[in-house]
Amino acid sequence: MFVQTILQTKGSEVVTLSQTATLADAVALLNARNIGAIVIADADRRILGILSERDIVRQIGRNPDGALSTPIAACMTSNVVTAELTTTIDDVMERMTQRRIRHMPIAEDGVLVGIISIGDVVKLKIQEVEHEAEALRDYIAS
Ligand code: AMP
Repeated sequence: MFVQTILQTKGSEVVTLSQTATLADAVALLNARNIGAIVIADADRRILGILSERDIVRQIGRNPDGALSTPIAACMTSNVVTAELTTTIDDVMERMTQRRIRHMPIAEDGVLVGIISIGDVVKLKIQEVEHEAEALRDYIAS
């Protein structure tokens, strides 16, 4: 199973912000869209960083009073781990586990084309197990 397969169902929309936005902007967007991370991209959708709930918690821990006015560029992770449309889901799972991250932007030639979250991966794995169980039940019944 490939990244492309998940994106065909899920779509290619990715919630992004510019790096000049503040943490207050990020909190409002995360809340409005009910998501856990925002990709920071330029006008050409080139990836500059990623900001997750964990980065916001860290910044509030450091500076409880002024955290929300901090520019995103000061709190985001710049060294973003990405995958491509042809990467396998098992490979995405392995990278997420090794790096302890729950979000993987998908890029083609450096340009953002989608995002896979750990929730998407778990959903797919549950579907695979259910299909296997169904096939076994059919086999036993036949
Ligand atoms: P998460 O588990 O996705 O909430 O993120 C945990 C930490 O890893 C945060 O500091 C994020 O900025 C960072 N992070 C999340 N996704 C990625 C990624 N694909 N590449 C690099 N860092 C990431």
